[in-house]
Amino acid sequence: MPRPDENLSLNSLKADREALLAQWNDGVIQRIPWRTLRDNCPCATCRMDRAQPKPAPMFNILKPEEVGPIRATAMVPLGNYAYHIDFSDGHKTGIYSLELLREIGESLAGEA
Ligand SMILES: [Zn+2]
Repeated sequence: MPRPDENLSLNSLKADREALLAQWNDGVIQRIPWRTLRDNCPCATCRMDRAQPKPAPMFNILKPEEVGPIRATAMVPLGNYAYHIDFSDGHKTGIYSLELLREIGESLAGEA
């Protein structure tokens, strides 16, 4: 898998209800569901959550925000290297660098 280099940039970025559609300057097009982006949120809180294995719950009780489909309510560019994404569950501390977006997109490639 070729590493994205420092010249990585987006030709276009589109969003629909379910996913982010990223068109990269090297011709690669990635469709990344919001849920996947939310699950890979790079903020400190989410990183800590993911690092701690959770005990198996006795009942699988879904939080309200896990029931409905998650989506982005805002996506704000930070300079030209990252985006700040507000999610519909109220979480808004995630800053996604272009490299991270690309990595998440690549981790989806091959799953269909
Ligand atoms: Zn987070």
